[in-house]
Amino acid sequence: MSINVEPLRKILELEHNKGYINSAVIGGLDRFLRNWAGQAIESITNPQLLNRFRKLNLVNPDYASLTKPQRKEWIQGVLDFLAEIERSEGEKGEAKLTPIVSRPPSGTRVQRTVVYQSIDSPVTVIRGISSTLATKFSKLGVKTVRDLLYYFPRRHLDYSQRKSISQLTEGEEETIIANVWQAQEIRLGGRRSTEAIVGDETGNVRVVWFNNPYLAKKLLTNTRVVISGRVSLFGGRHVFESPEWELAEDKELIHTGRLVPLYPLTQGLRPRQVRKLMKEAVDQWAWQVEDFLPPELKKQCNLLALPQAISQAHYPEDESVKDRARVRLAFDELFLLQMGVLSKKRDWQESQPGSPFSAKTPVLDTFLKSLPFELTAAQQKVLKELLADLQKPRPMSRLLQGEVGSGKTVVATAALLIAAANGYQGAFMAPTEILAEQHFATICQLLSRVGLQEGEEGYLCSYSGLLPHLLTVALLIGDITQGIKQELQQRILDGDIDIVIGTHAIIQKGVEFHHLGLAVVDEQHRFGVTQRSALRQKGFSPHVLVMTATPIPRTLALTLYGDLDLSVIDQLPPGRQEVKTKWLKPGQRDSAYAFIHRQIASGRQAFIICPLIEESEVIQARAAIAEYERLSKEVFPDLRLGLLHGRMPANEKDGVMRRFRSGELDILVSTPVVEVGIDVPNATVMLVESADRFGLSQLHQFRGRVGRGTEQSYCMLLAQNPSEVARQRLDIIEKTQDGFELAEEDLRLRGPGEFFGTRQSGLPDLRMAKLSDVGLLELARSEAIKLFQIDPSLDKPQHHLLAKELARVWPQAGEWS
Ligand code: ADP
Ligand code: MG
Repeated sequence: MSINVEPLRKILELEHNKGYINSAVIGGLDRFLRNWAGQAIESITNPQLLNRFRKLNLVNPDYASLTKPQRKEWIQGVLDFLAEIERSEGEKGEAKLTPIVSRPPSGTRVQRTVVYQSIDSPVTVIRGISSTLATKFSKLGVKTVRDLLYYFPRRHLDYSQRKSISQLTEGEEETIIANVWQAQEIRLGGRRSTEAIVGDETGNVRVVWFNNPYLAKKLLTNTRVVISGRVSLFGGRHVFESPEWELAEDKELIHTGRLVPLYPLTQGLRPRQVRKLMKEAVDQWAWQVEDFLPPELKKQCNLLALPQAISQAHYPEDESVKDRARVRLAFDELFLLQMGVLSKKRDWQESQPGSPFSAKTPVLDTFLKSLPFELTAAQQKVLKELLADLQKPRPMSRLLQGEVGSGKTVVATAALLIAAANGYQGAFMAPTEILAEQHFATICQLLSRVGLQEGEEGYLCSYSGLLPHLLTVALLIGDITQGIKQELQQRILDGDIDIVIGTHAIIQKGVEFHHLGLAVVDEQHRFGVTQRSALRQKGFSPHVLVMTATPIPRTLALTLYGDLDLSVIDQLPPGRQEVKTKWLKPGQRDSAYAFIHRQIASGRQAFIICPLIEESEVIQARAAIAEYERLSKEVFPDLRLGLLHGRMPANEKDGVMRRFRSGELDILVSTPVVEVGIDVPNATVMLVESADRFGLSQLHQFRGRVGRGTEQSYCMLLAQNPSEVARQRLDIIEKTQDGFELAEEDLRLRGPGEFFGTRQSGLPDLRMAKLSDVGLLELARSEAIKLFQIDPSLDKPQHHLLAKELARVWPQAGEWS
């Protein structure tokens, strides 16, 4: 039978390092030793050792009362003893398990059973947690001891200010230690309650607990209690109303007199109970959590040890240690996240060689010279970054961010041409068919300025003059007939088509390529890791360029898409107009309609976004239909209106969009769920109903639908009864056109969960880290990159624990251990 001496050794070493000030364990060493020794004694079988163990008197060492030299000597003695235990136990390889001997009910003296426990044991191994309680904890996602240790408080109440009764100040959170003079049940507001008078050497004070008559019996006269809570004034005297309390016994305070943790709770779990159990768990188990960070890194970054961080996160000694604990735990989350995404990236880039392209081809020059404009500095910078990637033997994986209209498509087209010039095929994928059509049209138009066009058929274009061979671009969408589709697919397989444009279905449904070298993906939100591995399963490891017009703050981009390199086009082509944005009061709706009338009379078009209704798509569609009818009949009977909502079949949606784009409709009424990512340069007005209910980024996306042509454009925001935060948002969007600035604000105002609408799946939880921790995130990332350079597969002995931890939090990666 083995005994786990590790926790004790660690603590004693810590105590030694701290200079014997009895600070290695919260609450002092004595209590810990009592617990530890009580368990250890059961497992020592060697009589000689048992004798020495008794002499050390670990069960009741009274360490606190020793002088420093005595402490030093005593600790050395215990450490020697531990070494001896280990020798006598030999190599059993069970150092991480704590044996607990459970004794059968007294009287029936049968053989002892040994239950091995680790921090991954169920919470029921903790004294005081029954299986009923365990069920309640499991509702909080807490199943094992480790889960419990990582169930951190929402915040702490600062009850560390201890006062004498005469010093109490009204309105402050304060703590007293006092004697109970008298406690009795009383009725307050018709409810059975408790009232007590307590006193110290400076005076007396009244304490009441509403709705809690049972306390009266616990607070016997002359017991010493600690009371923590807000001091109020009643009838000119100080009183504590329903404060936290506990008996001032010879043990550590957990509800009062310190920083007291407040846990997010579920029904059936009481705060006092959880605090007590958590204290038990922390004292007994926190020391057994393995610190997986390499010591060198920890030292470099000045991070707390993990066991210490965990216990201080629950029961901090003071504010500053509490902060350091949070930093350590947040660092862990961000660091593990970065290790995970970096390993995915490495996996992508190194498990299969990519295709290095040569940039020594005249095609780029010819293409750029043919454009009716110069690339902006931002476009040039990004193009350089792409070219550098494409020439490497590792497949590129890059995220390109740029506002709507910043000119991403031109840059992507240049990259596709390089692929074609190198004899590879390129795929350009959009989230919807109508956007794919639009890309096809745009790309054909860009190319037609240089190449001689051959046979245009609506889904196929060929150009001479760019490459030694004919450059062929195809549009592959559901709309085309089966016969043509088959023909296109055959030609793609033969390598006869250079650039294929379509939706994500291109790679999801079996389109076979001859030699796919570059995949461009527009709007990354729907193109995740899964799709990329789908590409790979087809035997390709093309360069991948993911593009998005959603401005993602850098912190978030690095956190969520850390496996992608980041390029940003942070500049619009010259001459773009600002979209004039105005937040209107409800009373101004009629003048907004009148304004739309005037714009349409002068030949423009308008969007109207229906109010946001969250219940369901069906209800939303119904509301949109009602709004569309109201507007058609009552407001714009003389104009041509179209309706777009999420319940419409795809071909109907596309039909409406086409009619709007070609000018057959004046106004497009649409629900917010519908992606209107479409270029209609003639549309100059965007009216958003219930604008207070949208996030800044979303409002900015709506606004990006207009202002795409040469005419001055307008965005009008209607808000019925905006909340304070909504007012802030509306103020900001009125003043700011910069999408990145808006995204940062959005993140600040709403938090990352809502920023994306839904929680991102497949990523480990961030509990302690905040996305505003930019510095810490960058530190975590640079440390992760450093580590990757030294020991990419974490083979070194000092990285074994880290590899194990990564395998635990990123099980899907499956390549750590
Ligand atoms: P995005 O895909 O980023 O929304 P596009 O690539 O569709 O933007 O470009 C929007 C419009 O701006 C297109 O009509 C394009 O031809 C034009 N454009 C792109 N780059 C420039 C530039 N450097 N100068 C002027 N116009 C440009
Ligand atoms: Mg675009």
